Amino acid sequence: MGIDPYNFVSCLNCVVAQRLVRKICPHCKHEVRYDRQTLEESGLNADQYLDHPFYEGNGCKECNGMGYQGRSAIVELLELNDEIRELLVNKVPVSQLKKAALAGGTRFLRESAVEKVLFGISTLKEINRVTFVEKVETA
Ligand SMILES: [Zn+2]
Repeated sequence: MGIDPYNFVSCLNCVVAQRLVRKICPHCKHEVRYDRQTLEESGLNADQYLDHPFYEGNGCKECNGMGYQGRSAIVELLELNDEIRELLVNKVPVSQLKKAALAGGTRFLRESAVEKVLFGISTLKEINRVTFVEKVETA
């Protein structure tokens, strides 16, 4: 586009990513437990969440058998500080950028999504459809 990356990045304050996840239908919502494998595949600590009550919808006439009704937004907000601006200008690998963002307090899309599941608003299946399990190495 012929934009000087330095100028572009220096006037950028934050980057927001948003997705919508379907909410569990309140009419057919019921409690479920997930086994160790399901939890681990979704990047959740199995020891911590084996006994955690999760929820799913059975599907009923209110939700046309879908088990979901309505949507809720999950958000990721990356605030650009000087360190991150510099990384962007220097075109470092995404993994390095993610580490810096994490250190700067960014809450990733996936964490926002997991929170919706822990609070019984959405399901693991739904968030696994919309976001991916992030493997951020902490070294
Ligand atoms: Zn329903």
